This record gives sequence, structure tokens and C-alpha cells, in this order.
Amino acid sequence: MPVDELIAAFVVDVPDFPSPGIVFRDLTPVFADAGAFRRVVEALAAPAAVDPRAAALSGAARQPDFDVVVGVEARGFLLAAAVALVTGTGVVPVRKAGKLPRERVSADYALEYGTATLELHTDSITPGQRVLVVDDVLATGGTLEAAVSLVEQLGGVVTTVAVVVELAALGGRQRIAPHAVHALWLV
Ligand code: IMP
Repeated sequence: MPVDELIAAFVVDVPDFPSPGIVFRDLTPVFADAGAFRRVVEALAAPAAVDPRAAALSGAARQPDFDVVVGVEARGFLLAAAVALVTGTGVVPVRKAGKLPRERVSADYALEYGTATLELHTDSITPGQRVLVVDDVLATGGTLEAAVSLVEQLGGVVTTVAVVVELAALGGRQRIAPHAVHALWLV
């Protein structure tokens, strides 16, 4: 089964969460199923392999084009850690404000009402390091735009932004441009 159909089969739509009129895509059943989780992690790790033509050209032993995986709190942590493990890379957390104990950089982003802040330890990314940024859902793109800006503040090079679900109508991909967005399921 193609990975997008697999994800669609496991995601649960929750109407009116977290507020009336919003349909929340709950990905926790995707993570809880061993087979679905593995497929999703491997697909996030290898964008070229998702396109059958690219996979045929690149072969199975393709090296990742990133040195480290950055995961966005909180569901991004689950995915980023697994992607790092299967690709032999490390994992770095982007956290909500006030959680990281040492010197850090910050980026604000807009919420529906007000703003929020994401942070990254200053020494967690080295200049020139190639970074895969991972989260579960791309909606308006504000969260991932802030995460990308943190990596870039430290001189990191974001090679790809990878998500399981892209809510395409909200225009997040345009906000992340020119960075490549690798989404497993566009909805
Ligand atoms: P954005 O900043 O508007 O792109 O929202 C993306 C962030 O909100 C991500 O960290 C997601 O985890 C979360 N998010 C937004 N919509 C959903 C959803 O429908 N399901 C799960 N998470 C969501």
C-alpha cells in the first residue's frame, strides 16, 4: 500500500478540536502501529525513495543528505528520534520557550491569538551542518518557519523539511520556500 494511503487509513479526524470548526488530524494511531510507524519513519528519512523513479536511480544504499535531524516539540520528537536512528544520525530538539537549560537562540511565531516562542541550544548545530527538520503536521507553516530560522541562526543548512501530513490549503509550503518540503500525505 502506498505510504499516503497507509497514513490516511490510520489518521483519525477529530471535529471541533482544539476549538469549534477545526478538524484536528490525530496522528497518534500512526505512531502506535509498528508497521505504519516504520513505513512513515523510513519515508521521512529518504525523500528520494518515495518517488519510485528516484529510488530506481539512487538504489537502496542511498546516503542521507543531512548530518542531523531536528525535531519540533512535541510530536516531532517521536519522529525525529526514529529517523535519526534509522539513518545513523543524531537528533536535536527544538523546544518551546523555557525548557532548554543552556545558552539558546529563540524565534517567535504567530498563533491564532498571540505569539509563541521556539528555542534551540546554541551549540546543538554547527555552521555548515546539514539538517533535516521534522514535524508531524505542516499547517500554516509558522512553527516550521520558526524552526528553520533557529537552525539558520546557528549557520546550519536546512536540506529538507519533512512532515507526515501537509494541510495544503493553509499555504505552509509557500511560507517555508525556498526550502524543500517533503510531505508524505497531502490533504
Ligand atoms: P502551523 O504552525 O500552523 O504550521 O502548525 C503546525 C503545528 O501545529 C505542528 O507542530 C503540529 O503538531 C500542530 N498542528 C496543527 N494542526 C494539527 C493537526 O491537525 N493535527 C496535529 N497537529 C497539528
